[in-house]
Amino acid sequence: MLVDAGDGISHALMNSRINFETINGILFSHLHPDHFSGLPALIVQMKMMNRNKPLDIFIHESLKAVVEEFLLRSYLLPKRMEFEIHYKTFADDERFIITEEFSFLARKNSHLGNLEKFKDKYPSLSLYSASFLFEAWNKKVIYTSDVGSEDDLLLFREYVPDIFISEATHISPLAIINKIIIINPCKKVYLTHYSDEDIPAISEILANLPSDLKEKVKLAIDDLSLEI
Ligand SMILES: [Zn+2]
Ligand SMILES: [Zn+2]
Repeated sequence: MLVDAGDGISHALMNSRINFETINGILFSHLHPDHFSGLPALIVQMKMMNRNKPLDIFIHESLKAVVEEFLLRSYLLPKRMEFEIHYKTFADDERFIITEEFSFLARKNSHLGNLEKFKDKYPSLSLYSASFLFEAWNKKVIYTSDVGSEDDLLLFREYVPDIFISEATHISPLAIINKIIIINPCKKVYLTHYSDEDIPAISEILANLPSDLKEKVKLAIDDLSLEI
């Protein structure tokens, strides 16, 4: 499963030598371009590679029609495709079981809350943005995706994750560290979704952590693979 497919995803996957055929499904947290707009180009690449197995798109129920229409308007017509796209809609706070061993739970965070004031003008707009808890082979991974406030990091507070992956753009590294102390994941914390200019400041904060936290909290980098 690929989680989010922002602008440039096809190149990023190729750079990491990830075979597109190994992607069975794509799960979207929200529709900001850096999480979503790479989808049509990725599907075109899959077509060019003669894919014929279906692709699942996991999307919140309020966003399915938007994604479907977006692909249609990108001229990715189902009747002309060699492979099928299966939309799998999920509801907020309802566990979605993919296989016996693999499931996810999405909870709405406040990332798009600053747009609520435009709801009157654009009533059809869905402001759903999710953070995820993944459970696979009894291991738990929390992925915040984009958040709106530091309290969003505690959306799954009743779970102790093995790995906690937090974005580091809409929330300060120090706020993340404070919440990590509460969440207390068993293994590792990875910070992602940061810009290159932020690396020196974040690295300095991480370098000055007490040694138990310093071992735990790492900056995510391209091609990183995790063992749980
Ligand atoms: Zn976003
Ligand atoms: Zn983002």
